Amino acid sequence: MENVVIIGTGPAGLAAAIYAARADLKPLVVEGSSPGGQLIVSHEVENYPGFPEAVSGMELMDLFKKQAERFGAGFLTGDITETRATEGGYVLERGGETIETRTVIIATGALARRLPIASEARFYGKGVSGCATCDGAFFRDKDVIVAGGGNTAMEDAIFLTRFAASVTIVHRRDYLRAAPVEVEKAKSNPKIKWLIPRVIDDIIGTEFVTGATLRNPDTNDIQHIDCDGIFVAIGHDPKTELFRELVECDEQGFVTVEPGSSRTSAPGIFACGDVADPVYKQAVVAAGTGCMAALDAQKYLEV
Ligand code: NDP
Repeated sequence: MENVVIIGTGPAGLAAAIYAARADLKPLVVEGSSPGGQLIVSHEVENYPGFPEAVSGMELMDLFKKQAERFGAGFLTGDITETRATEGGYVLERGGETIETRTVIIATGALARRLPIASEARFYGKGVSGCATCDGAFFRDKDVIVAGGGNTAMEDAIFLTRFAASVTIVHRRDYLRAAPVEVEKAKSNPKIKWLIPRVIDDIIGTEFVTGATLRNPDTNDIQHIDCDGIFVAIGHDPKTELFRELVECDEQGFVTVEPGSSRTSAPGIFACGDVADPVYKQAVVAAGTGCMAALDAQKYLEV
């Protein structure tokens, strides 16, 4: 029986591993199919405290992992396929192997929704980004598109006007899901232009993005727009399918935690990072909540 199994190796899972290992809990960390989490695609992370010269997401996660290993965290590779409660803890299935544990830390993160076009994947990290906070500063004096009509799209568009020469919001419907106050802020910003309703049919470029082909879904008219970057802000899906039977989730699928803690509705199961965070979605916040989860698990195991 393990003391604590941490599922996920983004900043939340690895910070939890560092703290749990230092507390001598000998945590077992399960590295799934996307080790390092969402940060791994950021070629320069400029806002993680302690790295004034920026650091690549991959290097940052590698440093987190080395730090966890130094204190004795164990790592396993492979996706957990099933979770269930058992007497005194939980059972996790991984490729025919059964892991029993007294506590579980869910740090499986979230997946940014992607535009369903092949060219989006081709240009991801080459002008297409899923994180304005992370990558906005690379688009100083450039023309960028923000795709989406929710609060994140409005916030991203407003944030990007700090750097970009122009920001065009492209949204597939006339109706904006964002709060009216956010829409008003965006509408009153002179750097923000609107192209709605428009669907991004294709992203154009050679090595980097140079433009996009847009379609009006009402008329099917096609237009080309030049741009240097496309920020995809069409929502995130938390990776909670495995735990739906065990812990309460909100209507968007994020694990619900007791305010100010990482405690879920199930005793001995803790959640941290983006899987439980519909608001901030930042690596530094994920690391902080990872620390909370390890401390909460430690306290739970002491009783
Ligand atoms: P949302 O789910 O609210 O919005 C996603 C947007 O992307 C919608 O406009 C949706 O269009 C569009 N979209 C979804 N899929 C596609 C697709 N395949 N192609 C094109 N467009 C697509 O996500 P957000 O990230 O904006 O917000 C998530 C949550 O976080 C919300 O609850 C939001 O209120 C909250 N939030 C709050 C903030 C605040 O309070 N300051 C700031 C940021 C987020 P459609 O409307 O047509 O479905």
